[in-house]
Amino acid sequence: MLELTVEQISMGQSAVDKPAALQLLANHLVADGLVADGYLAGLQAREAQGSTFLGQGIAIPHGTPETRDQVFATGVRLMQFPDGVDWGDGQIVYLAIGIAAKSDEHLRLLQLLTRALGETDLGQALRRASSPEALLKLLQGAPQELALDAQMIGLGVSADDFEELVWRGARLLRQADCVSNGFAGVLQQVEALPLGDGLWWLHSEQTVKRPGLAFVTPDKPMRYLGQPLSGLFCLASLGEAHQALLERLCALLIEGRGHELGRATSSRKVLEVLGGELPADWPSARIALANAHGLHARPAKILAQLAKSFDGEIRVRIVDGQDSAVSVKSLSKLLSLGARRGQVLEIIAEPSIAADALPALLAAIEEGLGEEVEPLPAVSQQREVIADIAEVLSAPASGSLLQAIPAAPGIAIGPAHIQVQQTIDYPLRGESAAIERERLKNALADVRQDIQGLIERSKAKAIREIFITHQEMLDDPELTDEVDTRLKQGESAEAAWMAVIEAAAKQQESLQDALLAERAADLRDIGRRVLAQLCGVQTPAEPEQPYILVMDEVGPSDVARLDPARVAGILTARGGATAHSAIVARALGIPALVGAGAAVLLLNPGTPLLLDGQRGRLHVDADAATLQRASEERDTREQRLKAAAEQRHQPAHTTDGHAVEVFANIGESAGVISAVEQGAEGIGLLRTELIFMAHPQAPDEATQEAEYRRVLDGLAGRPLVVRTLDVGGDKPLPYWPIAKEENPFLGVRGIRLTLQRPQIMEAQLRALLRSADNRPLRIMFPMVGSVDEWRQARDMTERLRLEIPVADLQLGIMIEVPSAALLAPVLAKEVDFFSVGTNDLTQYTLAIDRGHPTLSAQADGLHPAVLQLIDITVRAAHAHGKWVGVCGELAADPLAVPVLVGLGVDELSVSGRSIAEVKARIRELSLTQTQTLAQQALAVGSANEVRALVEAL
Ligand code: PEP
Ligand code: MG
Repeated sequence: MLELTVEQISMGQSAVDKPAALQLLANHLVADGLVADGYLAGLQAREAQGSTFLGQGIAIPHGTPETRDQVFATGVRLMQFPDGVDWGDGQIVYLAIGIAAKSDEHLRLLQLLTRALGETDLGQALRRASSPEALLKLLQGAPQELALDAQMIGLGVSADDFEELVWRGARLLRQADCVSNGFAGVLQQVEALPLGDGLWWLHSEQTVKRPGLAFVTPDKPMRYLGQPLSGLFCLASLGEAHQALLERLCALLIEGRGHELGRATSSRKVLEVLGGELPADWPSARIALANAHGLHARPAKILAQLAKSFDGEIRVRIVDGQDSAVSVKSLSKLLSLGARRGQVLEIIAEPSIAADALPALLAAIEEGLGEEVEPLPAVSQQREVIADIAEVLSAPASGSLLQAIPAAPGIAIGPAHIQVQQTIDYPLRGESAAIERERLKNALADVRQDIQGLIERSKAKAIREIFITHQEMLDDPELTDEVDTRLKQGESAEAAWMAVIEAAAKQQESLQDALLAERAADLRDIGRRVLAQLCGVQTPAEPEQPYILVMDEVGPSDVARLDPARVAGILTARGGATAHSAIVARALGIPALVGAGAAVLLLNPGTPLLLDGQRGRLHVDADAATLQRASEERDTREQRLKAAAEQRHQPAHTTDGHAVEVFANIGESAGVISAVEQGAEGIGLLRTELIFMAHPQAPDEATQEAEYRRVLDGLAGRPLVVRTLDVGGDKPLPYWPIAKEENPFLGVRGIRLTLQRPQIMEAQLRALLRSADNRPLRIMFPMVGSVDEWRQARDMTERLRLEIPVADLQLGIMIEVPSAALLAPVLAKEVDFFSVGTNDLTQYTLAIDRGHPTLSAQADGLHPAVLQLIDITVRAAHAHGKWVGVCGELAADPLAVPVLVGLGVDELSVSGRSIAEVKARIRELSLTQTQTLAQQALAVGSANEVRALVEAL
């Protein structure tokens, strides 16, 4: 990333001419290890193609694409030449910025410089600058302008209360990239200022990226704090950018004209009153930029020169970009766009010159603005497609055996049904807004009807809910409004629809929350359905008999949509075992293998497959004997599961009489009913963050108490192990602003976060204690890594317990961080229990992201290093008479159960569906046999060796 810092600046340099200056710069870049010696030739060659003089006394020498391989690291070095260097054509350079970049990163630098380039006399100021700091300040230029244009105005938005209106305003700011996620949460904490005439004002500097003002009015009369509310300003404040606007607004209010804003029916009116940027109602045309290196200095110069030959204003903006249109005649403004290949430019021209200027500019851009350009590929929904991989891979041969990641146990036999997304080409421009609107309306109606059919056919509530959400998305007025705006600008129904869907999906993803990211997958899912409908693309018909679904990667909603009666098994090219899709597949009881590699996508449809979801094996077109063995094994397994299900309510004892408790993991209070029905002896992990996520705002104490009571009621005296909120890092709550982190898994999450927000933690603890009513309640804290964290959490709970006494309460911690396991001998003296979260413990011990698309296969909780940590934990706990549970996914792995029992784990907490099987597995084992096994497992060097030991048991 190119940024400007004082360390990069060399003041007071001198060079007799341009070659000497280039030599100096190249020496500097070489000496600092950014480039190889040969880069000088690149700088010279680039100048020979065209001067890198930018204007205002600045030049930006950089290498040619041919010399990019001479770049070791991206960076810049700045040299001040107070005496000036003639850069050709009498252009004098006082500051040369030498760029070492492997790609088009200099465009970013140009963007950084543009604010300065607009200044008059910058060249002389650069020449006179006496320190690197002063020079840098000059380069940073004038303060940023306040963003205020039609996109920032929302009139008559649907909102039921003040909070919703705030949310709408914050959303406009976020869409304009003025603020980061969580700004709505920030504004909710700020005290609103009544301005009179029904207008209210809110502002904050927190999480602001660039200054901007949004104005929203509600669709119905509203009151707030006893006063009318007809319009709300939300300011993302940065520096003084809003000063002029504020002065205009005050003048307006003093003149008694405030009501004009609250009653405004067009954003133009609001902008006129506030002095914001008025949308030009001028003819426009769009074109995709094909230049390989984007709109860099040379093509931009040609474009600006051409624009200058017309006597009138011409502006350009990037379609889908955040910035407003800039003058095409200004080179610096053009560069500030940072337009890249493939981005669509919209050229807007004053009516008097539009008829001549627009075609001329479009033709020049199409011809490459002085550069040879490769035409852009036809617009298509791009995803990895078969054609790409077919070049380097071939389908697994008949009779071959592949190893993949076991994701859900069971044996599945059936023909391959390959579902790879097809590339769908579509036109960018439509016939007319009316025709395109009608086409889209019909496509939406068809898709809605399809989904209705799916809802009616789905037996599982969770699956029905996914489809109901899809229908709601189709009907979302915000989506359709935005699409309509694009249709009016001449886009085709396909282009408008896909652009809006993609923007909404990106927005969801940017929230960095696993659940919300899944909504992004849902959005793209319905986006594609509608696109396919518009383009008349048929999806391949499903085979009649139960099949093995082969996909690149399955999203949870894909899995949830599957009908287990038709889909015998799932095979994916990518993905990991603790990915959500794998967890959902297990919950549905569909055998699954993930991460099998891209070659499986090349299998011929209908190829007979045999998939072993426990051993992680895939047989392609297996011979009759193998099939026979597998189907016998499958039948035996089914019988075993049936027998296990009959025994699900019985406790699990080993053959030598050692009891292991089997509990359930749940994430919603309603889940307790089926968990008990499936044989749970208690709840071993209530993931309370999922309860929080199910609420649009933080549930208050009473709401939480009701949720926890529901679980305890459902348990009818069985113990409940609750985990306090485990959010932050990769799974923030939408209503809690949390600073973005480079490494969220190593950041402020779990107990670290809640200890920083004691009110939230106390409210949760109070709700828990109140709900107990003397029933067995165990509270544990997630992600504890130090004794001090545990003590703080314990002390807080003990203090509240004085207020709200609970008879049967135990306090413990999750063992998910290696430091906690290693400190178990110290912690065991103080806690009542430990619960090992193997998902995180494995990720932190092996330094492998648990959701990593290619590495997570190696994040196997049976790795001896992880087992060592569990062993330390159990020994320490038992030495002090405390119990240990395991609540990570490992607890349900049939190969892991004997090892965990042998290590002395007292309780296994698994998903409801696995309870009967885990109990049955325990009943087959003797404690002494598992103890020997565990000792052997601790002594080997890899998870595979451990698995082999268990297989041989
Ligand atoms: C774990 O880390 O193993 C665990 C149970 O917690 P979660 O999967 O919710 O992070
Ligand atoms: Mg965890």
